Amino acid sequence: MAADPQTDLTLDVIGAGPAYSDRPGSVGASYLVRDGATAIVLDLGQGSFPRLASTLEPSSIDAVLISHLHPDHFIDLVAFRHYLRWQFHPPRHVRVIAPEGLEHRIDALHDEPGFSAATLDIEPISTGVLDIDRLRVEACRVTHTADSHAFRVSGPDGIGLVYSGDCGRASDLERLIRPGDTLLSEVSFGPGPVPQDAVHLDGPAGGALAARTEVGRVLLTHLQMGFDPSATIASVADRFDGPIELVDPGARFRI
Ligand SMILES: [Zn+2]
Ligand SMILES: [Zn+2]
Repeated sequence: MAADPQTDLTLDVIGAGPAYSDRPGSVGASYLVRDGATAIVLDLGQGSFPRLASTLEPSSIDAVLISHLHPDHFIDLVAFRHYLRWQFHPPRHVRVIAPEGLEHRIDALHDEPGFSAATLDIEPISTGVLDIDRLRVEACRVTHTADSHAFRVSGPDGIGLVYSGDCGRASDLERLIRPGDTLLSEVSFGPGPVPQDAVHLDGPAGGALAARTEVGRVLLTHLQMGFDPSATIASVADRFDGPIELVDPGARFRI
């Protein structure tokens, strides 16, 4: 089954969960972005592979981009690796763009050197511009782990989606955002405040960022267990008067 042809930049929310959850059906971070037949995936957290595979045939993906090396953002690459190795004869390969060290971590999990390389063609993220067929990807470093990134994805008409990854300082995202973009931002600590030892965002930080960068829309994600969705959205709306939505798996947006 090939990817459904799309005529515009679209976002499919595959997973929007944080590292743990009490919500049945919660899926780790994963976002499918398509323009025409070009498809990339931003992150592949826990439980995301089955939902991805029910949305399009995964070997048709042009590239998987991993924002940082926390397992809630990459662990289903293990399932993807097995799928490519055992579902096809000969095995298929997919391009994976990730922080340094991903291959070693996955291989170590299996205690099997070469496990990743059997089907995952892993290359390092470079900041700056990368064109993947019809999609343009720009990456920048953000405050979280020592090697964490946010991404802006745009199609031929230049309209963009900016994905924060996990991010502890909202101003890090300013260099990626253009007025009118859709901002897909983590809001781990809901209405806030963010504890001093946590490197994440809350609603007030995201709302202030959205207002000063003049984004067209805010999509909120990665809300941790125990925070109220309505209060979280309200904390963004206090600072930003455009459309705001807390996303769930299965949601689709035209960017
Ligand atoms: Zn995370
Ligand atoms: Zn993280």
